[in-house]
Amino acid sequence: MNQRLHNLQAWMKENGIEVSFITSSENVFYLSGFFTNPHERLLGLAMFQEEEPFLICPGMEVNDVKKSGWNHEIIGYSDIDNPWELVLTSINKRIGAVRNAAIEKEHMNVERYEELKSLFPSASFVSAEEKMRKLRMIKDAKELKVMEEACALADYAIEVGCSEIKEGRTELDVLNAVEYALKKKGVTEMSFSTMVLTGANAASPHGNPGNTKIQKGDLVLFDLGVVVERYCSDITRTVAYGDINDKQKEIYDTVLKAQLAAIEVSKPGATAAEVDLTARRIISDAGYGEYFPHRLGHGLGISVHEYPSMTETNQLVIEEGMVYTIEPGIYVPGVAGVRIEDDVFITADGAKVLTNFPKELQILK
Ligand code: MN
Ligand code: MN
Repeated sequence: MNQRLHNLQAWMKENGIEVSFITSSENVFYLSGFFTNPHERLLGLAMFQEEEPFLICPGMEVNDVKKSGWNHEIIGYSDIDNPWELVLTSINKRIGAVRNAAIEKEHMNVERYEELKSLFPSASFVSAEEKMRKLRMIKDAKELKVMEEACALADYAIEVGCSEIKEGRTELDVLNAVEYALKKKGVTEMSFSTMVLTGANAASPHGNPGNTKIQKGDLVLFDLGVVVERYCSDITRTVAYGDINDKQKEIYDTVLKAQLAAIEVSKPGATAAEVDLTARRIISDAGYGEYFPHRLGHGLGISVHEYPSMTETNQLVIEEGMVYTIEPGIYVPGVAGVRIEDDVFITADGAKVLTNFPKELQILK
């Protein structure tokens, strides 16, 4: 049994949980190595204190599970089977009455929860999410390696984006060119919908790219990420098209100063709150506090947002092996939107920055 399953099992033993039934694609992948998006069909990984785990999935995916390296029982079902009956039989074969079961409460929907309640009427259900988040928060060497690859491709994407900024091009023109270049390199999935925003649009932290033409004197904001072997990267760069005014420059310099300072204090022993506040104070002291309306960053891995959450109130202590984003921004409506985002890996000595596209203001002619 792999180390990740062992870790979950140890937690179950400590907490008297007889069965964990994990149903999100991300956590099933983390524990088994098998990834699928089952849509409305049931996918589940059942883990026990002593007995053999099993994985239940649509029958047409059984061969893919085998190839993924899962070497415990696989239960495939057809579209005319009732998979819940199979879950019940398979659990009953292993253990007696279920009193304590762990499920992903955030992922589970009401219909499935009611199904489980009727199958195991005497069981109480606890959340497995917090434990799974903590397990996934510390990355191993293999995870780091694929994330480094994902980050290198994100750097390449920004490079392509900058080269595509030209008179008359729209946000969507540039976005299409970026994704086309990535697909030619074999990238099949982005971490989220790519953002290319210019001018006033960039002053919205989560804007939608459209047919706005990029004009001289605009700042252009790229926010994108590439998925490699199921792991995400996430980078933001803001570049200038032609000469920008002093106000835009001041905002850029403030964000950069805050971003560099937060990287500097990112090391084992610091808290997430300290890291956030380091950047937030610099932005507030420059008079832009009210224009930085979001947390400093978020953990990154199989999901594009995971633990740790880098907020000004999170007292979580930073540890070796964490990967998170550092992405302060200032968004002044009608003036400018600037965000600079890197992904960092925490080592004993501090933050190793995984995204390396230059951060000195790039002025494209
Ligand atoms: Mn981002
Ligand atoms: Mn991000």
